[in-house]
Parts: sequence; C-alpha cells; structure tokens
Amino acid sequence: MATQQKFSIAIVGGGVCGLTLAAGLQKHGLKAHVYESASKFSEIGAGLGIGANALNVLSEIGAYDEVMKYTVDTRKAKLPGFTFVFGDALHDPIYILDNEGEKGSAAILRSQFLDALVSFVDPAYTHFNKRCLYVTSNPETKEQTLHFKDGTTAEADIVLAANGVNSTLRDMMIADDAKATGPNAQPKGMAYSNCVSYRGLVTQERAQALGVDTSMWHRTMILMGKDKHVVVYPVNQGKMFNIAAFVGDYSKPIGSVELPPSQPLMEQVATDELVAAFPAPDFGPEVQALLRCMENPKKWYINVVWPHLPTFVKGRVALLGDAAHAMLPHLGAGAGQGIEDAYLLSELLAHPQTTAANVEDVLQVYSDIRRPRSQRIQDLSVQSGRISHGYGQYGSTKEGIQQAMQDVETWREDAYSRPVNVDVGQALGILKSKGAFA
Ligand SMILES: Cc1cc2nc3c(=O)[nH]c(=O)nc-3n(C[C@H](O)[C@H](O)[C@H](O)COP(=O)(O)OP(=O)(O)OC[C@H]3O[C@@H](n4cnc5c(N)ncnc54)[C@H](O)[C@@H]3O)c2cc1C
Repeated sequence: MATQQKFSIAIVGGGVCGLTLAAGLQKHGLKAHVYESASKFSEIGAGLGIGANALNVLSEIGAYDEVMKYTVDTRKAKLPGFTFVFGDALHDPIYILDNEGEKGSAAILRSQFLDALVSFVDPAYTHFNKRCLYVTSNPETKEQTLHFKDGTTAEADIVLAANGVNSTLRDMMIADDAKATGPNAQPKGMAYSNCVSYRGLVTQERAQALGVDTSMWHRTMILMGKDKHVVVYPVNQGKMFNIAAFVGDYSKPIGSVELPPSQPLMEQVATDELVAAFPAPDFGPEVQALLRCMENPKKWYINVVWPHLPTFVKGRVALLGDAAHAMLPHLGAGAGQGIEDAYLLSELLAHPQTTAANVEDVLQVYSDIRRPRSQRIQDLSVQSGRISHGYGQYGSTKEGIQQAMQDVETWREDAYSRPVNVDVGQALGILKSKGAFA
C-alpha cells in the first residue's frame, strides 16, 4: 500500500546508494527528488561485487530481477569461491572462500547496476548538473535549502546525502557550527588510505587476441604479493574481466600521508606503468599478460572517511553510503554497507508512524544503528587488506595466510550475511522505547 507523503525528500547524489534509496522509497510510493552533479547517471568505476546483504535489499525493494538480468547470484548458481593465490603460483590455491548460502554474492558492471536501478526512479524527479555545495536550514520552519553550484537552490524537508567520499555535506556532521559549511567548503573528514588501485576492464576477445589463456579467469581470483594484490573477476556473463590491482603501504597509519593538493584522485595511466607496478618475482607472466591487456587503465588514489564520523545525522540532513563511511575496498563491502543504509532509511521514512514532527528522532536512530555497523566493516576492510598484502598477524607464508583466512571468513560473513530486516527491527524497538513510536 502506498504511504502518504508527509514530507518532501531530497537525495543528493545518484550513484549506487542514492538510486537504491530512491528505489526503496518509490516502492512505498514516496517521491524523492534526486540531485546529481553529473549530466546523467553514470559510473566510471568498472565492476562491483555485492554480497547477500545487498542482494536481499534488492529483493525487498523489487529490483532484484532487474539486476539479475546482468549477473549471477552465487547463492543460486554454484560458482567457485574467491580463490586466493600467490601472484607467481596461480595454480596452487592458498585458500578458497566459501560463497554458498548467505555468504554468496554477485559481480556486476557498475553501469549495468545503475541501469537496473534507474528503471525504478521517476525521471520527473531527477535533476542533472546539480552539484549541491551546502545546505542551510530555516530554524523556524525547519525547511532545508540546497545550494547548487549553478547558483540555483531547492527546498526540501529532509536531505539525504549520498554524494560519495568527496561529499561536502559531511562538514555538517563535523563542524559544530553549520556556518562552517558554505560555497567554498572543501570536503572534510576524509584521508588518503595509503592505497592506490589500478582499475579497468578487459574483454575476453581482447585477452584471447593477445594470446592470454582466459580459462583460469572465469572465477574470482585474488593474486597476492608483498604490498600488492590484484583482484580479477568475470562480469557481463563472462564476456569481460574486471581488474582492480592494489598497491598499498601498511607501514603508515591511514591519515598520516597527505596527497599534494594538485594530485587528481583519479588519473589515466599507461598500461606499461600498470604492468611495471606488478613485477616478477611476486607476479608471474600469466598475471603480467592479463594486465597488459588493460587499455587505458585508471589509477585511483583511494580516500576513505577518516577518522570515523561522530554521527551520520544533523537535524534533518543524513549521510549514507561513501559520504558517511567510504572504506578500503578489501572486503568488497563498501557499496553493500551503503545499500543497507539506503534500505533502513527508506523503511523508516515510509513507516506510517514517521511524521514531520518525529522525523529528526527517526533519522537519529538511523545514525545510531548504521554508524557502529558500517564503521566496524570499515575497520575490518583495513584488516583484510593487511592480510592480502602480507601483513596479517600470522605472516605471509601460505600456512600463515590460511590461518588468517579463518578471520576473513568470519568478517565476510559479518558483512554479507546480515538478514535484511535486522536493522529495521532494532530501529523500531528503539523508537518505541524512546516514545517516538507507539
Ligand atoms: C577500487 C574500488 C573497488 C571497489 N569495489 C567494491 C566492491 O567490489 N564491492 C563493494 O561493495 N564496494 C566496492 N567499492 C566501494 C564502492 O564503490 C562504494 O562504496 C560505492 O560506490 C558508494 O556508493 P555511493 O552511492 O555512496 O557513492 P558514489 O558511487 O561515489 O556516488 C556518488 C554520486 O554522487 C554524485 N555527486 C558527488 N558529489 C555531488 C554533489 N555535490 N552534488 C550532487 N551529486 C554529487 C556523483 O556524481 C555520484 O553519482 C570499491 C571502491 C573502490 C575504490
């Protein structure tokens, strides 16, 4: 049954999390205006792996079948689990992660994921070329005004910021005085993770034309070396391979290295640079042959939200997704956490007992529930990266990594296997105990 629209909602950012949120609200008949800075919904990253937690959300909001047109759910079609190997010994698995049951996942092209979600969002409520710089609030009416780079403004009762790691709206969560935000505000609350990622896609056709034996790349492989690892998995029904090749420095804490202000966070680099970054003896000829197929690789300097935010909510503005908790991608869980955020927000805002009078309490409970969970997964993603780069607590031998993988299994289960309505149940319990809900 459609929920009565009791307040107007603005979503800033139409990426993975903003569109999941819009689709979740739409399922309940709630309209939200989506303000996207780009000229269309698009994703420049290549592939995305999402766990059962995110797949269950997609089922709940009615988007699962649309997404599944492009990919395979390993809970339904048995595929080999994530296979960890040393980069110079691809045929000697160190460990194969379980991907059955609720440890399952699906890998998809980001562009396809967005295409699937866009079909659930009302085009009349989407606005492109709208870079939101800051939000002001009328203390009497509580109306929120979004200020865009093009000089225009828009009003809403509630603002949900899903505008990624570079979110300027995060300032509001950190600054005591909201006036600290404004047209010249720079994104705050994030730090360089000491990790870069070379990302791109290789078509099966190109790999074969360049003489690569592609038979081994039809499963998710994690190729490990000292201070580096490469993740390869098939996407688009196996017609392409997604490659993310990481170089990290775990000797320094996150936030201790500042990138020069002139450093773009993403730059195109030559294939030679990529191949040279993964040399022998750690990475054998099969790895280098595959990397050599990547045309126009992009090098990302990965920023994360750091230190952890004290809250995801200020008044009637809430953060979700990377804006709230951008993390290292080493558990493949960043988008999944944002999708969980989006689901809890959509269920709470659509709840019959949520009103304009209690919506701030509702948003606060959203923050109280989502913050500890997503920040724990943020921390586990760092730990996971340490293991892949040879800095796990049991060392970098095959046996040491096998031991560490027991922890990774548990962390992955924590990230992926969360039943979809746990957060909603907890939130309703808290709202009742606070007297906000009957
Ligand atoms: C190398 C790498 C690999 C990864 N792999 C995985 C993986 O396998 N699985 C996984 O779960 N996660 C993965 N992640 C993390 C995942 O990409 C993010 O968690 C996810 O994309 C976050 O989605 P989002 O919607 O919050 O932000 P984004 O995807 O960044 O979307 C933000 C949107 O907001 C728009 N925007 C930005 N600023 C403004 C503004 N001021 N006003 C209006 N619009 C704005 C942007 O144009 C964009 O459309 C990976 C990350 C990296 C770096």
